[in-house]
Amino acid sequence: MENIYGKTYNDLKEYFLSINEKSFKATQVFDWLYKKRVKSFSLMSNIKKDIINKLEEEFNMEPLKVLRVLEDVDVKKYLFELYDGEKIEAVLMNHDYGNSLCVSTQVGCNMGCKFCESGRLKKRRNLETYEMVLQILMIEELTKERISHVVLMGIGEPFDNYINVMKFINIINHPNGIAIGARHITISTCGIIPKIKEFMNENLQVNLAISLHAPNDSLRNEIMPINRAYPLKELISVLKEYVERTHRRLTFEYIMLKDVNDTKECALELSKLLKNINCYVNLIPYNETSHIEFKKSSQDTILKFYDILKKEGIGVTIRREFGSKVKAACGQLRSHYEEGK
Ligand code: SAH
Repeated sequence: MENIYGKTYNDLKEYFLSINEKSFKATQVFDWLYKKRVKSFSLMSNIKKDIINKLEEEFNMEPLKVLRVLEDVDVKKYLFELYDGEKIEAVLMNHDYGNSLCVSTQVGCNMGCKFCESGRLKKRRNLETYEMVLQILMIEELTKERISHVVLMGIGEPFDNYINVMKFINIINHPNGIAIGARHITISTCGIIPKIKEFMNENLQVNLAISLHAPNDSLRNEIMPINRAYPLKELISVLKEYVERTHRRLTFEYIMLKDVNDTKECALELSKLLKNINCYVNLIPYNETSHIEFKKSSQDTILKFYDILKKEGIGVTIRREFGSKVKAACGQLRSHYEEGK
């Protein structure tokens, strides 16, 4: 039986047509699921009993199981258990502009970035669409707060689960669904070129962030193995095409790793690489984890790096740090839980 939260508006329209019902019932069902948030088909009071019966035979509304919640100032971290016992995380952050939720897209990850905790667990499976939608619904219910922004920066590589991720975006962006504006949704990728090309043809207003983390191939090959398949020259070239075609500003994420990628030379090389691209760089203080030897750059080093980019005419911000107390680095909550901590 399928989980109803994985169905797009158009899927439901087609479903109703297939059982000889009017397609506008999709609007009614979406309204119950995402505006009124009922958790049983029997509460959908404007839908006839025989159709309710059919919905109950076809779909379930099973939630995720909440295993653990950790809280710090302006941040809450959730560990969920899925139907097959797998575990994923989502992180809610309170900003002055609203609440953003960092959503997981896979159980584990195959990209193998050396600094990342999530990748220590190889990909076990993709998340189903409903498992992503429910991260939002459940956290809104638990906190009684509205999530205004969604970033696909939790466990997993979104472009390695492309179809489900696109369906997820369709559901949360749909005006009859959760209605989160496309400009408030950000997909983050380590740079899977064929999928970036596909994404650029979707004509969505969704933001794209690229995990860059190194200004040249030799360093990037070392810390992000995906670079061997999709090297920087090709990546930058497709990203230039993306900006030209979509007229959207790109974000580059750059984790500051002590003595690895945080030198003055790296800053200059990065400025050169990104010159004339409509973009900005988000410098991310590295969130240290006990399993991985990388250290975070000092605040002073980060500020110097920032100044160089600025002077070279590159838009740059420094990411505010959230919740080192709550094991906020992707994948940390899950691995600590497995270790019985
Ligand atoms: N796979 C996607 C999205 C998930 S990772 C991607 O690569 O973009 C989301 C972001 O968190 C990436 O930029 C990733 O490099 C970064 N990240 C991973 N581990 C981190 C850590 N310990 N501290 C800070 N950022 C980290």
